[in-house]
Amino acid sequence: MAATPSPRLTELRAMREQLQSSYAALKAAGLTLNMARGKPASDQLDLSAELMVLPGANDFTAADGTDCRNYGGLQGLTEARQLFTKVMGVTADNIIIGDNSSLALMHDCVAFGLLKGTCDSNGPWQAAHTTFLCPVPGYDRHFAICEEFGIRMINVPLNEEGPDMDAVEKLVASDPTIKGMWCVPKYSNPTGTVYSDTVIERLASMKTAAPDFRLFWDNAYVVHHLSGEAADIANIVERCAHHGNPNRAYVFSSTSKITLAGAGLAMFGSSPANVKWLLARMNQRTIGSDKINQLRHVRFLRDEAGLATLMNKHAAILKPKFDKVIEIFNRDLGEWGVATWTVPKGGYFVSLDVPAGLAKRVVQLAKEAGIVLTPAGATFPGGKDPEDRNIRIAPSFPDLEEISKAAEGVSLCVLLAAAESAN
Ligand code: PLP
Repeated sequence: MAATPSPRLTELRAMREQLQSSYAALKAAGLTLNMARGKPASDQLDLSAELMVLPGANDFTAADGTDCRNYGGLQGLTEARQLFTKVMGVTADNIIIGDNSSLALMHDCVAFGLLKGTCDSNGPWQAAHTTFLCPVPGYDRHFAICEEFGIRMINVPLNEEGPDMDAVEKLVASDPTIKGMWCVPKYSNPTGTVYSDTVIERLASMKTAAPDFRLFWDNAYVVHHLSGEAADIANIVERCAHHGNPNRAYVFSSTSKITLAGAGLAMFGSSPANVKWLLARMNQRTIGSDKINQLRHVRFLRDEAGLATLMNKHAAILKPKFDKVIEIFNRDLGEWGVATWTVPKGGYFVSLDVPAGLAKRVVQLAKEAGIVLTPAGATFPGGKDPEDRNIRIAPSFPDLEEISKAAEGVSLCVLLAAAESAN
């Protein structure tokens, strides 16, 4: 977060007419900009253009002789699982490769928990008796899975080093209905938070009233640094095992923002017992995932070095966009003390906090000026930000010129909303 000077509301109020006329000019410019969803831009997708022709007409045989065109291989090709051992923090035996969406794997793990229970459960979780902890602000689609099934959600503040662990420990120790917790441990959506070793240690070791409690460890941004300064976090599966909780963490990731967002590979990694449990559930759902896509990814990425090289190319495209947003917020909002924003080292988002009660108004003003932002409240369960403060900014998709215009427009909307409220 940038340092916040005290709010200069009296001065802003005095400038209200000037801000209104700047806003009228912004509207008249007829912009159509979208900073709502964290999608890769097309030049990022171009980095994986080779995938469109791989593996090639005559290349369909995996290292162990499997004909990838045919059915089978529920867990995924060995070489694909080997490729992602470092990313997932477990051995290839303890990885399952799914189809293109890690969100689908998370959805299924929740659904299977509700219907069947986990490998440590006495029976199904059942939605009416299931609660998830939700660090906030967080990822709207996690919360949507809970909403879909009627799972109760409890907000937990996400601090600089991760979730508020005093609150988490207290809740999980006393409430046996708390079966799960959403975690985006690295470059969190939307704050860019990186969980500290201390937080991870506490998550791995905490006493839970539910013996079948699970961390939904969504490491979507595991290799998505914006500069050479890549964060490294503790290995959750290892730490949980160390503390006698070997089955506590389900780790998810995908290549959605590595290769092709709509045609990548999703991964699940965990303890042997959890992998066995998930494979047993998946067995009724599919005869096997898309092995041709797995082979294609193995041929394209090759190894960890290949993956690292590709991620550096993404960073080279993304970093100037993030820098531009931060530069404009610093320039246009910095001196007014009415907003704070994160300066992430990776991931896909900047999290903007405006004065309480104004996020919806800012998003509305921006929309009327042709700048679409993620709806205010989306970063909280039920779409309800109790303070109406948080706005998620997604700079990846627009080009640099559009980003400049959008960030300037958003800054103006923040100042105008603050000036209006200062009456
Ligand atoms: N998890 C997080 C934290 C995300 O931000 C996103 C996409 O924005 C996803 C998961 C989606 O992953 P996938 O494309 O693998 O379903």
